[in-house]
Amino acid sequence: MKEFNLKTLIRPNILSLEPYSSARSEFKGTASTWLDANENPFGNPYNRYPDPLQLRVKAAVAQVKGVAEDCIFLGVGSDECIDLAYRIFCRPGIDNVVAMAPSYGMYEVCANINDVEYRKVMLGDDFALDTEAMLAAADANTRLMWLCSPNNPTGNAFACEQLADLCRRFSGIVIVDEAYIDFSDKGTMLSSLAELPNLIVLQTFSKAWGSAAVRLGMAFASPEIIGYYNKVKYPYNVNQLAQEYALKALADAPRVQGWVKQLLANRAWLVDALAALPLTRHIYASDANFVLVEVSDANGIYAYLRDRGIIVRNRNRIEKCLGCLRITVGTEQENETLIKALAEYGK
Ligand SMILES: *Cc1c(COP(=O)(O)O)cnc(C)c1O
Repeated sequence: MKEFNLKTLIRPNILSLEPYSSARSEFKGTASTWLDANENPFGNPYNRYPDPLQLRVKAAVAQVKGVAEDCIFLGVGSDECIDLAYRIFCRPGIDNVVAMAPSYGMYEVCANINDVEYRKVMLGDDFALDTEAMLAAADANTRLMWLCSPNNPTGNAFACEQLADLCRRFSGIVIVDEAYIDFSDKGTMLSSLAELPNLIVLQTFSKAWGSAAVRLGMAFASPEIIGYYNKVKYPYNVNQLAQEYALKALADAPRVQGWVKQLLANRAWLVDALAALPLTRHIYASDANFVLVEVSDANGIYAYLRDRGIIVRNRNRIEKCLGCLRITVGTEQENETLIKALAEYGK
């Protein structure tokens, strides 16, 4: 295990930051007369500021995920959790991050917004993760490592043991984005949080939970790391409507399991149907709710589908995904519509 010292990784201005103290965080009890936050007393139930720390939602997340409440941060999508990692750990113009590639585009966009050097380490054959190359790309100013499992856009998940090994051998922060974890049988890193003090796991309500419009993401980490997230976030980042919605969704976790089961069956059908098409060159194995498919003419097929009102993601210009389309698993009817259109391509 490499030496890990959280305080030396936090930007000095964040370490010494006196966070904004909101009215709702200074007084937390119950009262009959609220005259502290300049709210309009009319317009119930949305006239009041929401709970800045979303404690009821976190209690429900803790139950569902089997993680302690003080190890949970809730953000406006995973996107907020990603951006805050840069703002907490990376000194603009000085520090760098190492990321596996190809992967989710927001890691690099947020690096650019925060003026942080982004070092890409390409995945190997069959999109394998090269632990040694990731470590070799890091230097004394590498604060974060970005990993995504199951990975977008390649679809494959990595073994938890390999991800844990990387955590143990790197003295900075390792972020594992598990946006698609509900579709994978390779297991979550959540159970390793206690053992790995430099690990941050990201999950989201946007995929299996069917709530992309709600904008709610989760970061799981040590209480110390979560403390810095809370220090830097906007005071009322997750709005009241989103908190209420999340409580309802979390109370019906079996509904999500039902969706996942259905989508995995639909994925198997879609893979078989794609495999039977002449335009299909290769279908990459998927641990997620999408498949990456190499086709005969990615740009042409993308445009053909688009003209028929069927939108897939063209990954043709992404390194290592040349000639590929990324196709989300839809309803049975949506998948049939896609396959029917593809079967008529070029005819
Ligand atoms: C879709 C996706 C997310 C979700 O981001 P939100 O901001 O929570 O909607 C996060 N990471 C990856 C890799 C994704 O593909």
